[in-house]
This record gives sequence, structure tokens and C-alpha cells, in this order.
Amino acid sequence: MVKVKCPTCKKVFEYKSSKWRPFCSERCKLIDLGHWVSENYSIPSEKKLTDEELDQAEKSKKDE
Ligand SMILES: [Zn+2]
Repeated sequence: MVKVKCPTCKKVFEYKSSKWRPFCSERCKLIDLGHWVSENYSIPSEKKLTDEELDQAEKSKKDE
């Protein structure tokens, strides 16, 4: 009998008893997949402004 800990809910379960291993249930597998996908997509969408861009943004505000 091999007991493992579910990476999502931290519940200890028997490895062979789950068909969604290493997760304890389908729900935990989907939750983990969801986390992975959202993390993966948040990186390229995060835009960092350079000092120059910030300067220009400030100037354009004053012109209005
Ligand atoms: Zn779980």
C-alpha cells in the first residue's frame, strides 16, 4: 500500500485507489490544472513600463 499526499488538498490517500493520481480526485486535478493555466497566462500579460514610458505618460496627462 502506497500512501501519497494530494498536491492540491494535502489529503493523504492510497496511491492506487485514485485514477486521478497524483491527485486524490478529479476535482483536485482540475484545480491544479487551473492554477497552472492561470499562472502560465498571467506572465506575458503583465506589462512593465520603463521609466521613459512613465515619463511620457506623465507628460501627456499634463497636456490635457
Ligand atoms: Zn485532493
